[in-house]
Amino acid sequence: MIWNVQKECMSSEEKHELQSARLRKLVNDLYHNSPFYRQKLQELDILPGDIRSIDDITRLPFTTKDDLRTHYPYGLFSVPMTKIIRLHASSGTTGNPTVVGYTRHDLTVWAETVARCLSAYGADHNDIFSVAYGYGLFTGGLGLHYGIENIGATVVPTSSGNTAKHIRLIHDLGITALACTPSYALYMADMLNTSADDRHGTRLRLGIFGAEPWTENMRREIEEKLGIKAYNIYGLSEIMGPGVAHECEYRNGSHIIDDHFYPEIVDPETLRPLPDGRQGELVITTLTKEGMPLLRYRTKDLCSLTHEKCECGRTSTRISRIAGRSDDMLIVRGVNVFPSQIEGVILETGELEPHYRIIVDRKDNRDEMTVEVERRRENGTGNVATPELQSKTATRLHDILGINATVRIVPPDTIQRCEGKTKRVIDNRKLH
Ligand code: ADP
Ligand code: ZN
Repeated sequence: MIWNVQKECMSSEEKHELQSARLRKLVNDLYHNSPFYRQKLQELDILPGDIRSIDDITRLPFTTKDDLRTHYPYGLFSVPMTKIIRLHASSGTTGNPTVVGYTRHDLTVWAETVARCLSAYGADHNDIFSVAYGYGLFTGGLGLHYGIENIGATVVPTSSGNTAKHIRLIHDLGITALACTPSYALYMADMLNTSADDRHGTRLRLGIFGAEPWTENMRREIEEKLGIKAYNIYGLSEIMGPGVAHECEYRNGSHIIDDHFYPEIVDPETLRPLPDGRQGELVITTLTKEGMPLLRYRTKDLCSLTHEKCECGRTSTRISRIAGRSDDMLIVRGVNVFPSQIEGVILETGELEPHYRIIVDRKDNRDEMTVEVERRRENGTGNVATPELQSKTATRLHDILGINATVRIVPPDTIQRCEGKTKRVIDNRKLH
């Protein structure tokens, strides 16, 4: 179902007009209410009247996560704190965390964008959702929560934590839909399939996964193991939280909700805009945000755009799957390596599990990469990895990445599971 036909199926002329009007208002508001942006605009000699249409967006300054950190906590808010009714903060493994603030209007828009996502996945008031994203400080939990309530479905705020209890709830409450990270979905699947009452006793039919990159192979794996349809949801706290982009039933990229979040793709080196189909860094401008609006926010997420019309009838721009972040990209012996490429190889064989770690060391000034991966439970005798499987995987990795990697196949359930975002890369090189 399409939640908001008027906004989701606009003609390109209508969209252009709406985006232009929203951008003009945004730049005007920022110029007058945000000391941070006023200074940035003045440095570029831009007056609000210079921005006439959405096509002028490329004249505007970029914003980075560093800007948010430097102006921690409230420096980028552009309304008084009396208008802010919610704060969230993102992890921040290095330096200051980033704090985001929402007005009442922002929260209404967010519940609308998540409702659009959920409707596109075919969810409705008959569904009972378990939200297993964290609720504490992260945007994942509450973001989905209010969207689910908005469509009139039932929400169980499970949060992350106790998996055994979660499985019990899935059975007892007749939960039909699961929202969590894809890696946690796989973990759940394994637990469900080994527990006394396995998944066949559940009503699960739908999964909504995001917050970390995942692949088509991983989707297949999750769908098979859980017996559900799995959809992608994309978002980031700086822009709003989950619900910035979503798949529809055609699953050919994710529709970005571009009447609120305007996307561009730029070359991460030169920052020049790239055409449709070219992979680069996703940059988003929040067209309607009040609490903490951002101009041309550099997400560091690598993907491409298409403006082709989708068969579902929505006319929004679509983004490809996120191939990784420009900052989680590993450079091993000068070669760019994305964890998602390694995951793709691991899942090709059908003999390995998508539980893996990538360990990079530097010995005698030479980078060494080891991929540690679990073998599939039902394969072979005992848990001893066959040397053939090891070398087959290494050869395939070499074909795809162009560099040698040591493959270490380990018994099932030996790589530590994690309920939030999985830390797959262990870089011991200390190059920074
Ligand atoms: P943090 O930066 O602290 O992790 P968020 O929780 O807001 O904060 O994470 C947002 C990031 O998570 C995105 O920029 C992106 O890298 C990743 N992400 C979110 N959803 C997806 C998705 N569906 N596919 C791939 N990556 C995603
Ligand atoms: Zn579509």
